[in-house]
Amino acid sequence: MLDTLRRLIEEVNLARNLEQALGIIVRRVKQAMQVDVCSVYLTDQDTEYYVLKATDGLNQSSVGKVRLGQERGLVGLVAKRAEPVNLDNAPEHHRFCYFPESGEEPYHAFLGVPIIHHRKVVGVLVVQQHGSEKFDEDSVTFLITIAAQLAGAIAHAEASGEVDIVGQISTPSHDSRPISGQPGAPGVAIGTAKVVYTLADINAVPDRRTSNPDAEIMAFNAALSAVKKDIKSLSKQFVDRLPPEDHALFDVYMLMLDSDSLAGQTRERIEAGNWAQGALRQTIHDHERIFREMEDSYMRERVDDVRDLGQRILSHLQQDSQRPLEYPEQTVLVGEEISAAMLAEVPPEKLAGVISVRGSRTSHVAILARALGVPAVMGATDLPVSRMDGAEVIADGYSGRVYVTPAQPILEEYRRLIDQEVELTEELKALRELPSETLDGEHIPLYANTGLISDLTPTRESGAEGIGLYRTEFPFMIRQRFPGEDEQRANYRQVLEAFAPRPVVLRTLDVGGDKALPYFPIEEENPFLGWRGIRITLDHPEIFLVQIRAMLLASAGLDNLNILLPMISDVSELIDSLSLIHQAYEELLEEGQDIRMPKIGVMIEVPSAVYQAGNLAKRVDFLSIGTNDLTQYLLAVDRNNSRVAELYDSLHPAVIRAILQVVDSARVHDKPVSVCGEMAGDPAAAILLLGMGIHSLSMSVSSLLRVKWVIRNLSRERALAILSEVLVMEDVREIRRYLNTQLEEAGMGGLIRAGK
Ligand code: PEP
Ligand code: MG
Repeated sequence: MLDTLRRLIEEVNLARNLEQALGIIVRRVKQAMQVDVCSVYLTDQDTEYYVLKATDGLNQSSVGKVRLGQERGLVGLVAKRAEPVNLDNAPEHHRFCYFPESGEEPYHAFLGVPIIHHRKVVGVLVVQQHGSEKFDEDSVTFLITIAAQLAGAIAHAEASGEVDIVGQISTPSHDSRPISGQPGAPGVAIGTAKVVYTLADINAVPDRRTSNPDAEIMAFNAALSAVKKDIKSLSKQFVDRLPPEDHALFDVYMLMLDSDSLAGQTRERIEAGNWAQGALRQTIHDHERIFREMEDSYMRERVDDVRDLGQRILSHLQQDSQRPLEYPEQTVLVGEEISAAMLAEVPPEKLAGVISVRGSRTSHVAILARALGVPAVMGATDLPVSRMDGAEVIADGYSGRVYVTPAQPILEEYRRLIDQEVELTEELKALRELPSETLDGEHIPLYANTGLISDLTPTRESGAEGIGLYRTEFPFMIRQRFPGEDEQRANYRQVLEAFAPRPVVLRTLDVGGDKALPYFPIEEENPFLGWRGIRITLDHPEIFLVQIRAMLLASAGLDNLNILLPMISDVSELIDSLSLIHQAYEELLEEGQDIRMPKIGVMIEVPSAVYQAGNLAKRVDFLSIGTNDLTQYLLAVDRNNSRVAELYDSLHPAVIRAILQVVDSARVHDKPVSVCGEMAGDPAAAILLLGMGIHSLSMSVSSLLRVKWVIRNLSRERALAILSEVLVMEDVREIRRYLNTQLEEAGMGGLIRAGK
């Protein structure tokens, strides 16, 4: 069964469009279960009817015509109950609904299971038999397993639309329906999609229109010849080392490469307007599908060879086209998974927005987008990435909605909202020089989060009172090896000098989790619970000490350095870190350096640190709450996993209580507490943090004036009153709704949605 299931899923994933995917499903399920009929009904989003979309067994002419509401027919019953219905004699059931055009009358046994995606019934999968016997348990569980596995693929195919003509590239048609993702960075962008992808992955290659098919065909021919040459030379090398039957594989490869179907079809697709890489992907997918459907198991296994050949041709094509990417004026970067490096490659004046299929609000690429003030949507799982290159798109970073080739009225509405956003941003600029003070005169310093040298100027001009979190890992990530002491010192000096005498908090290296160093790979099953942050640097004191020395040296004469320790989950880790810091300090004094001991802080971002906040606070000068990780660990929700992104919200009552506990514990030791996670830049959350008595907030520069607006419009007393209301609420949605209403009523609705 597992094998059947795996093959079915693979075939469906390769289908060119929804119709083809459904065709594969009904055919394969009918075969595997040896039933007389298999059909799929899908939910029509507008009418909420269940429409017959594909069948193997009923009359084909009824496809698209049989439609049932929740209150009618057995299909409606399955959908309404959201559970299987297994009957020995369907026509006798009071819900049975007869459609003469379907040719359904000879079938008695009926088994329908719902297809459910994200808790919503998106369709019903039905099998039917002549005989009058219920389906056995194995059949029921098989169908349930298939429906559960297919739900994502069907929902994705449905949401991402269809390709019109085989081999031609089609951009999605004008649409008023958005694709949903998660808010990544606030703001709205209208621009041209630029699809970026990991090289040497044939499945990741997008379609792209070419203006020069001849050049693309030449490139393809050259890549093909290069692969043939490679295979010939491999074949020679192995001629004496492999038995003849295995060596014959090379002949199969050569046959495939010479066959007109592979090369000819790719060239046809290029002539139809696709670029060589996109045309190759389509041809390889077609071939994979054909091989997979073959009865002969030897031929079926050739699928892997086809893919391997495709991959080889692709890598030659990509080597030949390693020219720098051209970015449209208003680039909206689109990809399955966008890395920090991909983002950094876009000229800043051209980057208008970011849309990623994976990730969520606190993924590091979203944090980077926010730092650059660029709207971002994350976790847009249904995005038709391969067909979006060059399409006009809207990215709404407040609601997480994406519109691909939007209809005119939607474009006009968003243009109006963007104009209002620009006005709001202009109005907010007036706050830059004004103090971050509540109505009752309390000063709450606002600091900036950063980690990119290039954005120091905007950070300095943003009105930030210092740097509350400098993520030192970015300079480590963009190099080919660990940066040395001098290199690091120069880097930190630049930051400290730019802000002196204002305080700067440099965090020690926090890699692991979703932040990898290309030259220090860490392979782990569960990286967020693994070797991360301080755990790595304590295991490698040579890395830690170099960094601390560089920080201390950089601070000479400025004395605005604060050092922050990430991922502390145990008091002993703090004790060991402090001992290394003192060691570095003593060494430098011995070397005759004129430096002072900086203030040291601990990040509270792990539940164990919440419960030991007092023990930690008494040993350091300040605490800084990393709500991105704290939320992830408290709620057991991976901060990068779009499948559970809806569960990730720092306004969850458990997170609010944890922060309150940290503030109370630190107060006992008279130590200040700051929040430096993304929560600090969320205007709704800022109200609560103010009420809790947080001493300072550190956030992306783009959020700074927005939060200042909130602070200047509230008194501590009012914030406290709002906090007490929230503390009795049990549900995060209720809390967010309530806080948003408070902002709207105070005339600050523009902070939480598009427009003013
Ligand atoms: C946090 O976890 O809240 C934090 C500020 O650190 P990072 O996002 O870099 O993990
Ligand atoms: Mg963190």
